[in-house]
Amino acid sequence: MQKVAAYLLERTETLQGLDARRAEGERIRAVVEAWLNKEKGASSSSESGAYAALDGSDARYRVLAESSGDRSWTMFELTEVTADGRRFVASVSVTVGQKSVVLFVTLEVGLTATQVNRIYADPRCPKVVRKLLAEPGTWHHDKSRLRGGISNAEGFDEGEALALEIQNAERSIPFVVVSALDGAPVLRGLDTALAYDLAGLANVYSVDEAASWALTDTLKRPFSCHSGAIRIYWPRFSSQDDPYRHQMWTALRLRRLDGDDQRALERIRGQVRKLIMMASAASVVRPREIDDIRSAAARSEYAALKEKASSLEDFKSLADSYADDNDSLRRALAERSSELEQLRGEVSRLEAEKQGLLFHLGRAKPPSEENDGDIEIEPDLPEQDDEDVRPPNSGEVRFYKKKYSAPTHDVFIRVSDCGHNTWQGATKADKAKKGIARMEGDKQDWRTVQHCSNCTGGGMWRVQW
Ligand SMILES: [Zn+2]
Repeated sequence: MQKVAAYLLERTETLQGLDARRAEGERIRAVVEAWLNKEKGASSSSESGAYAALDGSDARYRVLAESSGDRSWTMFELTEVTADGRRFVASVSVTVGQKSVVLFVTLEVGLTATQVNRIYADPRCPKVVRKLLAEPGTWHHDKSRLRGGISNAEGFDEGEALALEIQNAERSIPFVVVSALDGAPVLRGLDTALAYDLAGLANVYSVDEAASWALTDTLKRPFSCHSGAIRIYWPRFSSQDDPYRHQMWTALRLRRLDGDDQRALERIRGQVRKLIMMASAASVVRPREIDDIRSAAARSEYAALKEKASSLEDFKSLADSYADDNDSLRRALAERSSELEQLRGEVSRLEAEKQGLLFHLGRAKPPSEENDGDIEIEPDLPEQDDEDVRPPNSGEVRFYKKKYSAPTHDVFIRVSDCGHNTWQGATKADKAKKGIARMEGDKQDWRTVQHCSNCTGGGMWRVQW
C-alpha cells in the first residue's frame, strides 16, 4: 500500500485536565461515528462489517480500540476494493493523550495483486475532516493553527502580518496564497475551491492588491505573489531558499491552462491538491503516543495472562499468543520495508521529473503544448529579472519604481533606466527614501536620490550609491 495523504489535527487548548480531554475525545469520536453511520451506512456499534460504497466497490470497515491508564486510542478503518482490483484504505484515529486529543487520518492506495505499476490515485479530503474542522474550538498541526475555509488578508497591514506568519520558523503547514486581480482571483472561485480541497492540510489566503504588495515588500520580489498569481509557501521558509521551492503560477499561466475557465480551475486545483497531499503523505509523522498506548495495552494484557497462568497448558497458550503477535509484527515490518522501498522509488522518480521541469523552464515552450491533457502544469519561474539580491556597490546606480504606498514607506521594485534623463533632486521624500533603504537591507549611504519628472504612475527613482 502507498500512503497518498496524511492529516494530523490536534486539540490542545483548554484540555489541561484529564476529564476535559476524555470529554473531547468522546465528542470527536461521536462525529466520526456519525460520519461512518450516516455517510457510509456502517454500524459503528459493531467492531467490523460491510457497507455500501458509492461506486459499488467491495467495502468493509473495522473499529479497533486500546487504552492504557488515562490514555486511549480508537481507530476506524475503511477499506474499499474496486472491481479492477484497486484497494483504498482510509483510517481515522482518535487518540486521547497525555496533553492533547489527536486526530490522525491516512489515505492509502494499493493493488490487490502484485505488479510493478504506477497506481493512479486522485485522493480527496475525507468529509469527516471537514466536519471536524467545522466543530467549535481550534485545531492545530504542531505549532500552526489550521484555519479551515478561506482567510482574507485585506490592506497593507494584514498583508504584512501574513508575510510574518509565512516567515515564522515554527510554521508547520503550507500556506497557499491567491492574489486578486481587479478585486478577484483570475479564475473565479479558485480561492474557495482550494480552501475546500486543502482543509486540514494547508491554510488558504485570499489577498487583495495592497496585501500582496506587503508580501513583496517583506518577503522580497523573488517570493512575491501578486496580480492574480497563486503561490504555495512551504514551511521553513527562508529568504535564502531557491524561489522555485515555493511554486508560483502567474495570472497569465492560469488563464492559459484552458480556454474554459471552469476546466482551467479544475486543473490547477487538482495539481495543487496533489502536490500538497503527496507532501503530507511523505512528511506527516504518525503520533508516537498511538504506539505507546498500543504496546502498553498489549503488555498489560500479557501480564494479566501470566498472572493467571498456573498449568503448563496455560504457559503454552501464553507462548502461542506471543508467537502470533511476533508473526503479525514481522508481517507489518515487512510491509513497511516494501513501502519504504516504494517511497524511495517515488523520490527518485520525482527528482527526475523535477530535473525535467527545470530543464523545460529554461526554454520557452509554445503555448499549444500547455494544453496536453495529462502533462502537469508547470509552475512559473519566480520573478527575478535583473534584480540581484546583492547590496549595491559604492558608485553603482540603481533605478527603482514605486508600486505601492504603505503607511510608513513606499514599496519599490528594481527596474532599468526609463531613459528620460529628467532627474531632479528630492530633498523631502522620506517615504521613498525609507522604502529604498528597506529594499537594500537598510542601507542609507547613497550619494544622490533623484526623481524622474517625466515618468507618471507611481514614480521613478534613480539612486547613486
Ligand atoms: Zn522617467
